[in-house]
Amino acid sequence: MKKIEHIGIAVHDLEQSEELFSKILNKKPYKKEKVDSEDVVTSFFKTGPNKIELLAATSPNSAIAKFLSKNKEGIHHIAFEVTDISKEMKRLKKEGFTILNDKPKKGADNKLVCFVHPKSANGVLIELCQEIK
Ligand code: ZN
Repeated sequence: MKKIEHIGIAVHDLEQSEELFSKILNKKPYKKEKVDSEDVVTSFFKTGPNKIELLAATSPNSAIAKFLSKNKEGIHHIAFEVTDISKEMKRLKKEGFTILNDKPKKGADNKLVCFVHPKSANGVLIELCQEIK
């Protein structure tokens, strides 16, 4: 694991939260992206070597919609950057962690991603991400 790549925050209203985080961070988001495979729309802010990812649902089937039906708005996941996502998935599986997808999938911000189930990680949803070259 190289570093915390970003922290994902689940929000109801992306525009409103973009405005809020623009005030907190004193800068505008550098990217807004719809991820159809996940039924979410995301907005990214750079904060030094790390990022903040705001996520809003675009359909009731979205994991973010389900999260927000059970939780308040707030931290949804922590993403760690890795060099070789397949290798890390194998390593964590061997350590007994529940990986939520069989193989890496295309996520937002030009990344291959996978998720580790919060039940096996102290209640924290962990994302692994690898830059697509
Ligand atoms: Zn993420």
